[in-house]
Amino acid sequence: MSDFESRISEFPRVALFSTPTPIERLSRIEEALGDALRGVRLYIKRDDTMGLGGGGNKLRKLEFLLGEARQEKADTIIAVGGRQSNHARLTAAAAARHGFQCELALAQVVPRMDTDYQESGNILLDNLFGARVHDLPGSANPVEFAEERAAVLRAEGRTAYVMASGGSSPTGCLGYAVCANEIAEQARFLGIAFDEVVVPNGSSGTHAGLAAGFVALGSSASRVRSFSVLASEEDSRAATLGKARATAALLGCEATIEETDIRVDGSERGSAYGAPTASMVSAVQLMARREGLLLDPVYSGKAFAGLLAAVRNGDYRDGASILFVMTGGAPSLFAYRHEF
Ligand SMILES: *Cc1c(COP(=O)(O)O)cnc(C)c1O
Repeated sequence: MSDFESRISEFPRVALFSTPTPIERLSRIEEALGDALRGVRLYIKRDDTMGLGGGGNKLRKLEFLLGEARQEKADTIIAVGGRQSNHARLTAAAAARHGFQCELALAQVVPRMDTDYQESGNILLDNLFGARVHDLPGSANPVEFAEERAAVLRAEGRTAYVMASGGSSPTGCLGYAVCANEIAEQARFLGIAFDEVVVPNGSSGTHAGLAAGFVALGSSASRVRSFSVLASEEDSRAATLGKARATAALLGCEATIEETDIRVDGSERGSAYGAPTASMVSAVQLMARREGLLLDPVYSGKAFAGLLAAVRNGDYRDGASILFVMTGGAPSLFAYRHEF
């Protein structure tokens, strides 16, 4: 076992999916890009293929979060998010799988009141997985609600474990530090040096965990680039830096992470979180039509649009290998039926 693996093994963890998730080349998209590609090689890491609850990036965080919940002898898991939260759906599935009760505090943060958004996609699955859904207005603070709900449950003799938004506490971020190690091992095995790893950035745990993981492995945090879909570029960078440092500290890593190592791009966010953009719709269609794969309209569709723009803009040197993490989220396509 490597030093990194032995440090990781000290944290309580439940198993939710098998590793490694595959790395594949996007040959048909490369072909479609034609001259604009300039020798760049595009790869994807299939974190959308995990076998539980439809899969997606939140399962990596939930392995450590549910491990912590079990250690604290919790019987109920409470997640917070928006109405179409992928994190809520995967928490409901993981809780069902491991015998926890699950409650979801979901706020109407995206002003879409049509039936598809309100009743299909993730929310349909939340109910199917047996979670109790608390429907909160957009003005509500779901974290505050969840803490109050936990106090009510405590008074009834139960123990609730309340998760941070998107599962992005330092403990949750460990899941993506593990992913950094997984990528490093696959890169060695495949004989590919990935110049950059590209991810969407919502609650920042995916970017922060990867950045902390690469630093703990003696590589650089600046190999990760994210596209923010929730906060502004500056707020997102600050949140990511804070979480990356906290995760590195949790790993006992002494190397410092500088603000300039955290590369966040706000150019694809559009007018708001969950608001569709034309470039997102084209990116989702391109991935579907050229590769038969599903991006999602809120996170990975916007981030992949950003990667396509970067390639067309000539950001990468000839022969560079770029790895895009497919973070899941396909159920929310059904909530955005009219956009497609
Ligand atoms: C939550 C989510 C993200 C963003 O991950 P964060 O760790 O919150 O930044 C990306 N893609 C999908 C599909 C998600 O559900």
